[in-house]
Parts: sequence; structure tokens; C-alpha cells
Amino acid sequence: MKCLKCGQRACFEIRRHRAAFCQEHLIEHLRTQVERAIKKFKMFLPKDRILVAVSGGKDSLALWDILLDLGYDAEGLYIHLGIGSYSDKSCEMAEKFAALRGATLYTISLKEIFGEGMEYIARKSYKSFCSTCGLIKRYVMNLTAKLGNFDAVATGHNLDDESAALLGNVMHWQVGYLARQAPNMPERGGLARKVKPLCRLTEREMAAYCVVKGIEYILDECPMSEGASSLKYKEALNLLEASSPGTKDQFYLGFLERGQKFFKKVEEEIELKNCLKCGQPTTAEICSFCRQMERIGFDPLALKNAIQEKMSGIE
Ligand SMILES: [Zn+2]
Ligand SMILES: [Zn+2]
Repeated sequence: MKCLKCGQRACFEIRRHRAAFCQEHLIEHLRTQVERAIKKFKMFLPKDRILVAVSGGKDSLALWDILLDLGYDAEGLYIHLGIGSYSDKSCEMAEKFAALRGATLYTISLKEIFGEGMEYIARKSYKSFCSTCGLIKRYVMNLTAKLGNFDAVATGHNLDDESAALLGNVMHWQVGYLARQAPNMPERGGLARKVKPLCRLTEREMAAYCVVKGIEYILDECPMSEGASSLKYKEALNLLEASSPGTKDQFYLGFLERGQKFFKKVEEEIELKNCLKCGQPTTAEICSFCRQMERIGFDPLALKNAIQEKMSGIE
């Protein structure tokens, strides 16, 4: 196997592109793919300030690294969920990376703010762990982007994540989710712009990126995600991808190009208003985050105040 670019011995094969690369050109290839996705989906401009949601895992750290290498003004947000040693370890990885690159990282810790972490919050919630956790993460990301005057929130969702989510949404005909499943969700009614620059790259590629670049990341998956249906959809897609490389690409990109328009109307019909409690966009009078916190007996505004304080140093 030879590198497509230089003809030297290749270290990594990308079957769906019928290509192989040496270390140097693998990095170059992945960086170019991210740059192309940013332009193709009009995610953001060189002058924009980007908030990267980092989990300490390979995808978000690789994303942050690539954005910095491409010259973007990218700062990190780490949400410390307080899920035992998993959160402590992943926080350490995010902090280490930020220090090595001299980049700014904001850490929002649920335990510091509420005195309790996700495990307690999820136990008191009547929804599943992952959906409660997702609700809180989205709320923190949006609020931080807004209070810190960022132009976009970038997450490390890759092709594996996006195609698995798409399969799940199609299997259950989640029309609303299908309408919103885009790599670039523009700002709307007080919701920050959300972008996924890794949407054309796979988990395997991001892991290789981190190894070649010497980026340390947490290998463990979140201990609470065990048995999640998204993992089963990933397995199913991996099976199809192994027998016909390019399946995930075709499924996901084909949906964006040809399928999504059939669902768009649903999204446009949803009206957003401001939560009477916290002012964040919601479809109800009080947003689901505030309702959730009040049910548990926590003050939802404590989180807003904590983020405001972190962001106060920003001009
Ligand atoms: Zn090469
Ligand atoms: Zn609210």
C-alpha cells in the first residue's frame, strides 16, 4: 500500500475513498476534508469566534486541533458532568490539550454549581439518563455561546455518529429530528448556530489523527451510554460498510442532498418563544431545562449566573 500523495509507504487506508496515506498526508487529507465541509455547508467564516464543545474524547479534541491548525479562533467548552472518574479523567484530557496548545478552555461543573452531578440529576428525572444529559449539555452549550458572544458552537459528531442517528431517526420516523439533522443549524430564535465539521470523517479516522498527532484522549466511552440504541445502529452500519465501503457516506450525504427537504417544513412550523424563567428559547412557557431543575429543587438560574461569571472576562 502506497500513499496516494507521495508514493511512500502508507500507514492508513481509507477504503471508501479507495485511498491510503502516509502519516503526514493522512493529517493533511483529514484537515482538508474538514475545511471542505466547513465551506460546503457554509458553517462559519475565518473571522468568526467558534466555541468547540470538548468531551476529552478523540473526536472533539481532534476537531479543536484541526480548527486551530486551520487558523480559526476556536475556544473550548468542557462540561464537567460529575460522572465519577470518567468525568475527572476526561476533564484532565481536555485541560491538558488546552494547555499544550495554549488555547482557552472554559469548564462548567455541574457539581460546583448544584452540589450534585448528572447521576443525581438523572435519577430525579423521569427521562432516560442520556436524554437528561443531552438536554443539559445542549442548554449549557447554547447559553455559553450566547453569553460569550460566539458565532457558532462546533461539536465533534462524526460520520459514524451522524449516520447512526439518521438510521435511528428513520427507523422511528422521527420527523422533527430528521428536519433538524443537519451539519449546520443556523442561528434561530436565540438558539446559537450549531455546526458539525467532522460529519464526513469516521471514528477510525479521528482516532488515527489523534495517534499520529500525539493527542492524548480518553479511550473509555461514557459509562452511562452502555446499551444505548445508537451503538446498535453503529454496529449495523459497520456491517454494511465492511461489505460495501461508502455506504455510510451515501446514506448520510444522500439524505442531506435529496432526503431532508421533505422534512424541512416541520422545522419551519415550530415557533420559538423565550422561557419565562431563564429567557432561553423554548416551545413552551417554561423551557424543559428549567422545568427539570425545578422538579429536582435546583435553581435553574444558578447555571446561567455561573456561565455569565465565566464569560465576564470576554470583551
Ligand atoms: Zn505521503
Ligand atoms: Zn428556562
